[in-house]
This record gives sequence, structure tokens and C-alpha cells, in this order.
Amino acid sequence: MQFIDLKRQQERILQKIESRIATVFKHGQYIMGPEVAELEENLCQYTQAKHCLGVASGSTALDLVLMAWGIGPGDAVFTTPLSFIATGESIAKTGAIPIFVDINHSTFNLDTSLLEKAIQAVLTQNAALYPLPLQAIEKQLKPKAIVPVDLFGYPADYHTILHTANKYQLKVLEDAAQGFGGFYEENSPLCNCGCTAATTSFFPAKPLGCYGDGGAVFTNNDELAALIDALRYHGRADAQNKNDNIRLGCNGRLDTLQAGILLAKLEIFEEEMQARQNVAAVYTALLAEVPEIISPPAPSKGRSTWAQYTIQLPEGTNRALVMEQMKSAGIPTVINYPKGMHRQGAFAYLKYSEQDFPQVEKVTSRVLSLPMHPYITQAEQEYIVGTLVHALY
Ligand SMILES: *Cc1c(COP(=O)(O)O)cnc(C)c1O
Repeated sequence: MQFIDLKRQQERILQKIESRIATVFKHGQYIMGPEVAELEENLCQYTQAKHCLGVASGSTALDLVLMAWGIGPGDAVFTTPLSFIATGESIAKTGAIPIFVDINHSTFNLDTSLLEKAIQAVLTQNAALYPLPLQAIEKQLKPKAIVPVDLFGYPADYHTILHTANKYQLKVLEDAAQGFGGFYEENSPLCNCGCTAATTSFFPAKPLGCYGDGGAVFTNNDELAALIDALRYHGRADAQNKNDNIRLGCNGRLDTLQAGILLAKLEIFEEEMQARQNVAAVYTALLAEVPEIISPPAPSKGRSTWAQYTIQLPEGTNRALVMEQMKSAGIPTVINYPKGMHRQGAFAYLKYSEQDFPQVEKVTSRVLSLPMHPYITQAEQEYIVGTLVHALY
């Protein structure tokens, strides 16, 4: 059994993919060929966003937006400690200081009831108000932006995030690397649910994945879109002045081949999203028999992409042993994530302490992600849950 079975999807659409690849081979425009614009148009349609820009990866997408906003030294950017490292990394690389805010243990997303406290703590340099990194206590940082993450595809609490952002004049960058295809509420698709900009990733294991690295930036702001377009071409002045580099950028473009592959996959994407809803519902129904296991919630309004189906094992469970037993039964499981970003070596310089984010500590010691993809069968799910229960009791 595969954790994410890309082979089953490929068998279904191999012809479409091969035909897309053959077309690219024929026209030979490997960089920014027509497939990139076609994909961008399709993704705009899907999200109703005004602009979509195909870029080199989800990480590059984050970098480009922060670069375009001029985020840098002296700035404070608020985010969740429970995410893939790229979220915090993109902030820190600009020279800005990431300010982590604890999570809601049920949704795994940033706890928005703590957000304002953290902003106030930065403004008053008062770590008694909310745990701060060393740098925020030593010098007056300027709150600039919030980077919420739709972790595991579950929409972050945009109502409160946008309200708080408005109050403190902060920009909001939605890291929807796991969230493309989800909805915050009806008619409010992730990647276009009110934030200044949003990013996603086409890493193969994401809900919409290509066969390599890829990503996209979404925004309704014309100027930001034009700037990010220039930045993905090393900061060129414009398409007519390709060698006039009026600012620094990077090589941030999405490959034509990957865009072609994504176009083939996009044809069945909505169907796959529906299948993911069913798979999640089956897991939740099966797990309801074991009340000590906490299932991830389904959003009450909107829709999760179920990029991961992540449960919380009963307190005190020997998780390594459970994973070992499942592995011997042929079932791969994954820990998303073993620790909060604030405890990663790369962020040691922030001098956060282990007690700063109690919900993250609690959750990271118990989480376990089960195999999750649109093609998993009910029989497989029954086997997975049966094996899990056997391992636990
Ligand atoms: C995958 C991921 C990224 C980075 O995307 P890449 O395409 O791998 O660079 C960023 N943020 C989150 C939350 C992710 O899951």
C-alpha cells in the first residue's frame, strides 16, 4: 500500500498526460510555453482569482510574495509553528523575524484568539503578554504581515485573521500549499478568500501535484501580479525590456512541461476532490468506533482538501510501536509534523522555549497521518483502521 498512490491516478489519465508532454516536445517552448498561460487561466477560473502566476515551487511562491512586499529586517511576520518548514523559512530568509502563534488543537491551524495578543506583545516588546523570540524583545519590530496556513487542507480562520489584519494594517499571505481545491465557505475558494495574496504548491504529493516541483501565486491586485511576474524573471523591467533588470528577483518560473502535466490532471481534479471527501468521511465513520482516537474535523462551512488525514492517538500511546506494527502489516504512516518549527535547529536563533506553544507540543506528540488519496478503497480503509485498533489494544 502507498501513503499517496500516484500510480492509480496516472493509470487513469496516462494518455492525456502523454499527449500534453508530446505537444510540448513538438513546440519546444520549454520555458513559459503556452501551457503555462493556459494553466494560469484555468486556475483563475477554478478559484475566481483575478491573477494566477505559475512559479517554480510552493516555496518560491512564498519567497516571491514576501519579496514583492519588501518584507525584511526589522519586520515581524506572524505565522503558525505547525507547518512545513518552508512557511517559516521564507519569512526568516528575508531578514524579518517570524513570530509564532500557537495552534487550535482540533483544527491544527493558527489559534486566532491568540493572534492579537501576539501582535500587542510585539508592539509593546512585552513577552509577558505572549511568548516572543529574543529579537522581538531586544528591538522594536514592525508588525507587517500574517502568513496563515491551511494545514492538511483545513481552511484557516480567515474571518478573524482578516479582521485582525485590517485593524493593524497587516498584509495577509495565505499559504495554501495544501489547500488548493478547498473552500473557506461557500463561494469562497481557498487561494481567493480575501487575503492580499495566496500561494500553492504542485509538489507531487500535494492534492494537485505535478511530476516535479511547481507552485503558483494568486492575487486580485494588478500591481502585485505585475511585480511578481517581473520577479520570477530575475526582476526584469517588463517583457519588452528583458535585459533591463531594475530590481533583484530570481529564476522563479514554472516549467512548461509541468504546466502541461497539471492541465491533464486538472481535468479530473474536482472529481478527485469529491472522492477525497468520501474517503475522509469513511475514515471518520470507522474511527468513531474508537472514541479515544481524535479524528480531524470536517469544516462546518467550506471544504477541506484532506491533503492529509491526521488523527491524534490516545495520550500515552507508544506511537513508534504503532507505526512499526502498521508498517509490518504493509501500511505506511507519517508524522506531520514531529515538532514545531520553533524547535527546529534552523530557528534556534529565535530562542523560543519548549513551553511556548503548549498546543503544538501536545499535538506533535500524538499525531499520525494515515494513507490518504482519492483512489483508496473502503476495503483498504477498513484494513487500515482494523490494523490500527489492533495495534492500540
Ligand atoms: C509543501 C509546502 C510548502 C512548500 O512547497 P514546495 O512546492 O515543496 O516548495 C509550503 N508550505 C506548506 C504548508 C507546504 O505543505
